[in-house]
Parts: sequence; structure tokens; C-alpha cells
Amino acid sequence: MLVNVNGKLVPKEKAVISVFDHGVLYGDGVFEGIRAYDGRVFRLAQHLGRLYDSAKAILLEPPLDKAAMRAEILRTLAANGLRDAYVRPVFTRGEGDLGLSPFVCKKPGYFIIADHIRLYPDATYRDGLALITVPTRRNVAEALSPKIKSLNYLNNILAKIEAGQRGALEAILMTQDGYVAECTADNLFILRKGRLLTPPTWQGALEGVTREAVLELARKARLAAVEEPITRYDVYTAQEAFMTGTAAEIVPVTSLDGRPIGSGAPGPVTKRLMAGFRALTRFGKDRIPLKPKGARP
Ligand code: PMP
Repeated sequence: MLVNVNGKLVPKEKAVISVFDHGVLYGDGVFEGIRAYDGRVFRLAQHLGRLYDSAKAILLEPPLDKAAMRAEILRTLAANGLRDAYVRPVFTRGEGDLGLSPFVCKKPGYFIIADHIRLYPDATYRDGLALITVPTRRNVAEALSPKIKSLNYLNNILAKIEAGQRGALEAILMTQDGYVAECTADNLFILRKGRLLTPPTWQGALEGVTREAVLELARKARLAAVEEPITRYDVYTAQEAFMTGTAAEIVPVTSLDGRPIGSGAPGPVTKRLMAGFRALTRFGKDRIPLKPKGARP
């Protein structure tokens, strides 16, 4: 495996950054998770947009512009000979001292890892996932906006720990005032009274690229798909539920806190959206080829 560290492709063992990088010392940095399917990168522009927005929100000046970053991502995928992959570009604040001020970090850094990812076994996609709600609340936007995909994922990790301790693979984090925010690394959708609902991102969720694709797919299929605050009660009494994310794609959710959702099996609308999303990732227009057209493989 070759990892891109500040523009140099180096073997995995040599892919290292300084312990004085504030990305390591303080989680001061931002990242993305992107997928390539069959030699084409899915919605790269949207992911780059979010990466640069995250950087802007934490006042981190990226060491290269969007077009150059795009080229580096494609180069890293090609160098690893990957056609189906998960790509992780990261910006870090760069080397500083032991104080937390970012102003002493003169040179932000970046690295890009291209690898495979598999979060859940096939059976999860067939049979669904049991979710629980956990005590840890989603970060409040006024403290650290969940729209920023930052290197500080402790909020999500605490929820993941609580899920694991209770024997669940995944969890829902609630907002401070008791609404559903999202899962630890995925957005949540429910089908209730025939409408597809997902919490508005201002309530405390990442603006998911998969979430956006699913909203588009649903609207194309003439399904009412709206962003609306959701309570635990709404999920308990939903007909169907599923999570969305770049790594997880669409995962049917079949219970919450021990209450079966709908029939307790993945529902027809979820299955239709899973098929639609699969088609979008394989045949949709919004995909960037790894090699220019006409180039020999
Ligand atoms: N929420 C969080 C907290 C995440 O980390 C992710 C994964 N990036 C998502 C939602 C899903 O977003 P996307 O569909 O863009 O991967």
C-alpha cells in the first residue's frame, strides 16, 4: 500500500507524521471519507466541497487547492491500483509546540490513504441492524458544529463505546433537547406514515453525501422525503428505518432499544432505495473516472 503524505507516495510503514502535529496533539484537523466504485469516484466534488468547508470552519488554510487535492486523490487511487476503494484525505494543522494555539503551526499538512473498507457483514444488509440510543448527546453546534468533519471524533467514539458495552453495533445519538441527531458515523432515515424523514442537519448531523443522494433518489421516485425533527417515539413507531454513509452505504435498521421497527425486517422502501443507490454508485453521472477516457487500463 502506498500512502500519500504531503504529495509523496510512500509505503504504509513510512507513512508517518510528527508527534508535534496539532492534528495528533489536539485533533486539530479535518478529513473526508470517499468511495470509488469500479474505477470511478462517487460524488468527489461534494466530498471536496465538504472537506474545504470543514477546513474553512476551523480556519485551516489547506496546503493545496481543491483542484490539486482532487488530482492527488486520483493519483493515490491509481498508484494503489484500486478500482473499488475507500479514500481518506486528511488535513492537519501541522507542527507546532505544546501550546494549543494553531497560530504557531506554520505549515498545515495532508495525507491520503486509499484502502478497502467493510463495516458490516453481508447479513446486516439482508437482515438489518439493531440500534440503541446511548446517554452521550451529540455535540451542540454552538460548541463544535457536527457539520465540521473534524479529527476530533471523541463525541462519536464515546457513543460507539456505549453501544459496544451494551452489545450493539451502532447507536443513535440524541441532541441536547432530546431529538434524534444521527448515528455515530451515519445519518438516519425513517419511513413514517408513508413519508421519508431525516433530521435537519442544523439539529446536529453531518451533511451526509449519501443522505443527499438518498433524498434525491426518493424524490425522483415521487416519495415524500423531508427534513424534519424526529423523536425516539417516531423511530419506535416507524414503518421502516435505515442509516446512510459513505462507508456503510444504506443499512436497514430493524429495531431501536429492543422495539422492532415495522415488521422487524428490512422494508420494501429501504430495499428499493438500496437498489437505487447501488445503481447510482455504479452507473450514475456523478462519478469521476480514475483514468482519462480512452487511456489503456
Ligand atoms: N455522520 C457522521 C458523524 C459521519 O462521520 C458520516 C460519515 N462521513 C456520516 C454522517 C455520513 O456522511 P456521508 O454520507 O457523507 O459519508
